[in-house]
Amino acid sequence: MTNSISRILIIGAGQAGAWAAHTLRQNGFDGELALVSNEESVFYERPPLSKQVLAGQMDAAATQLFSTEAIEAMNIEWHKPDTAVAIDRTRKEVRLASGKLLSYDKLMLTTGSRARVPVKAWAEIDGVHTVRTIADAARLGAKLLPGRRLAIIGGGWIGLEVAATARKQGLDVVVFELGERLCARSVAPQVSDFLYQLHSDQGVDVRLSCGAIDLAGAADGAVRVSAAGAVAGLFDAVVVGAGAEIASELGREAGLDTTSGLVVDACGKTSDADIYAAGDVAIHPELGYCIQSWANAQNQAISAALSLLGQDRPYADVPWLWSDQYQCNIQILGAAGSGEGTDIRRVCGDNQQSFIRLDAEDRLESLIAVNDPKLIKLGKRWIKAGMKLPAEILADPAQNLMTLKPYGLIARR
Ligand SMILES: Cc1cc2nc3c(=O)[nH]c(=O)nc-3n(C[C@H](O)[C@H](O)[C@H](O)COP(=O)(O)OP(=O)(O)OC[C@H]3O[C@@H](n4cnc5c(N)ncnc54)[C@H](O)[C@@H]3O)c2cc1C
Repeated sequence: MTNSISRILIIGAGQAGAWAAHTLRQNGFDGELALVSNEESVFYERPPLSKQVLAGQMDAAATQLFSTEAIEAMNIEWHKPDTAVAIDRTRKEVRLASGKLLSYDKLMLTTGSRARVPVKAWAEIDGVHTVRTIADAARLGAKLLPGRRLAIIGGGWIGLEVAATARKQGLDVVVFELGERLCARSVAPQVSDFLYQLHSDQGVDVRLSCGAIDLAGAADGAVRVSAAGAVAGLFDAVVVGAGAEIASELGREAGLDTTSGLVVDACGKTSDADIYAAGDVAIHPELGYCIQSWANAQNQAISAALSLLGQDRPYADVPWLWSDQYQCNIQILGAAGSGEGTDIRRVCGDNQQSFIRLDAEDRLESLIAVNDPKLIKLGKRWIKAGMKLPAEILADPAQNLMTLKPYGLIARR
């Protein structure tokens, strides 16, 4: 037992909940470890759901983070499927939908986020899908048959990944995007243009500034999609990829400091010293907003679990996520600020290019690399070192950036 903590309760058994449990056990916590999950499937990774699982190339079992034996060895008191509905911080108890009351010495909230469906009634239409869980991927996967018509509402990362997967399966795909460009919340216009071209070249019909969308059930399980008041067509299935809602209500209703997500310090501690949070539901302590990525969920949870055990490990990772679409592995590092800066495009070939953003002092702010994982590794080092970078060298594909020296020194060919 560590530090007189005898019972830890974790709510949510996704990526962050899994890594929190694993880290606690690996680091000597031998007290009671209880987990509440409103999903029957637990401790699995979501990235393959919109990619290999949807394409039928990966079995759902392969998305498990740890082996069955490793999970059994964690000696977890499971409460699933069940939903935590209220936290009583004074009594240090959590109430579940089943009526159970679970006590805790320390509580970890890893409740993540859920798919946002902008119009509630859409969720009741048979052919309308979201992609968040294994069950969602299985239900949609069964409909991805060659020649069928698929509409995607929302041109964000998940919508585009589903578009790529479905296109590769031989479906006719239309993407309806309300905004003027794709992935507008996370990337610069030139990256949106790249994504637009990528999908158009693959035969996806991308409709930007499409106007208000309306969905209605039609005969034989089809869905009628209307855009800007005009019928846009009948589809065999519709995927709503309209972003995610942060599942922060449990903490917020218990009175924890909340902005766009649960406010935590660098050690994952919320405004209650006995409650920690990590993953999609928690803000990034330096950036002040939630980062919805696989790496963030894992590493913030590891940091919070260690801190909970008294081994403070401040978390300050630079945001990093990836997306796979057709032949492109797209990795996104950092977060572009709104201040002055320089945008650089480095084109190394048809299938390899990068979009680099330097801040006003020539330090790397964000990097989006297409089929160039080595550059991402370098970028992580540059950001960590706060290195000033020469724009003209970054833009020149003939320059070997591995040999790039700090500002002022010229890279050798
Ligand atoms: C289809 C898809 C593809 C993705 N692809 C990528 C990718 O390529 N690269 C990348 O970096 N990231 C990707 N992501 C994002 C990444 O998977 C998430 O950021 C990560 O899963 C977040 O982990 P989490 O544990 O914080 O939350 P979640 O995975 O959402 O887990 C939270 C769990 O808590 C449960 N829960 C919530 N409230 C309660 C409650 N009150 N009681 C009990 N249980 C509760 C939820 O049902 C869920 O099971 C993808 C996400 C999706 C959905």
